[in-house]
Amino acid sequence: MENGNPPSMSNVPELEKKLLERIRNSKVSLRIMHVCGTHERTIAKYGLRSVLPKTIDVISGPGCPVCVTPEDDVNIAIALAKSRVTVVTFGDMMRVPGSAESLLDAKSEGADIRMVYSIDDAVALAEKKPELEVVFFGIGFETTVPANAAALLRNTPENFSLLASQKRTPPAIELLASDANVDAFIAPGHVATIIGTKPFEPLAKEGFPVVVSGFEASDILLGINLLQTQVEEGCPRVDNGYPRAVKPEGNQIALKIMDKVFETSDSEWRGIGRIENSGLVLRKEFEEKDAAKKYEDLYASSLEDIRKKAEGKDKKRCICAAILTGKAKPPQCPNFRDECTPKSPAGPCMVSQEGMCYNWFKYSREGGSKLA
Ligand code: SF4
Repeated sequence: MENGNPPSMSNVPELEKKLLERIRNSKVSLRIMHVCGTHERTIAKYGLRSVLPKTIDVISGPGCPVCVTPEDDVNIAIALAKSRVTVVTFGDMMRVPGSAESLLDAKSEGADIRMVYSIDDAVALAEKKPELEVVFFGIGFETTVPANAAALLRNTPENFSLLASQKRTPPAIELLASDANVDAFIAPGHVATIIGTKPFEPLAKEGFPVVVSGFEASDILLGINLLQTQVEEGCPRVDNGYPRAVKPEGNQIALKIMDKVFETSDSEWRGIGRIENSGLVLRKEFEEKDAAKKYEDLYASSLEDIRKKAEGKDKKRCICAAILTGKAKPPQCPNFRDECTPKSPAGPCMVSQEGMCYNWFKYSREGGSKLA
């Protein structure tokens, strides 16, 4: 905004310009929460907040998988690796601080921790190296869980198991709906490709306009305008703003595979706490693949050491919890930019390309207003 006027739209592509005009012409004010790291990336990268009217506030919820993975799950992964188990996981996860240290810190101290791109890489490692005990630290939302389920439905070798820290999105959104001072939600497009639009209907029944959005700048702007339209019509519902990828019923094959292997449980979310029915854990038939149980005795003393070490650790005050629940924005953190950067993250929201602090750091430095 310059002199209180909206930024010039001379460089804005035609479709986005039309959508912005519709948003600006609407009289509806909204505080909107999105729940997806990729949405945050698009919003930050194209500087959408800088071109939206002041009546539209878009805040980020807990949509970054590594950000919501609890500290103690990281501690267990480290304890396993310090107990002669080979722990493999995604690159982002290696840099997320646990209570005392990150997986990368533990690796530099000699623990066998390796980066992979998928669970299939982890299974291949276990097959190739039968002398290793290989644990895949599987984190994420409904988008990544079907691949984990599919791998376990194939015959994985005996020396392979899963440390699961998997989350279901709708229960977290429902919890925040009652707590976060939000008027409407942009539901995550990736998750909806798997679960469909129906799991978001309870939110609409509670009176919240909901839209499932894709990941282009135009998708987000369309989503915002669809939410305004719902308010104008006085009819909260779940609009599908991403029909090129999302069906109302979701991906039935993926859902069936997930259901064969995993069941719903209560789950801890970093910064939020325990949320009822928000986790996906291995069913009893697959419990021999549950690394947390399989090696419980082996890693118990390492885990205790890590927890003790954490008690004496002088932690930089990280406000990710407030950021993940829409109660604060990155510049409100005293560590932002100086003590906490993508190269040296002090909290999980600065680690991943899906983290809000990471995106605000990266794109505010690069201008963050490429659309306008
Ligand atoms: S800037 Fe760093 S320390 Fe502050 S909230 Fe973000 S991740 Fe946490």
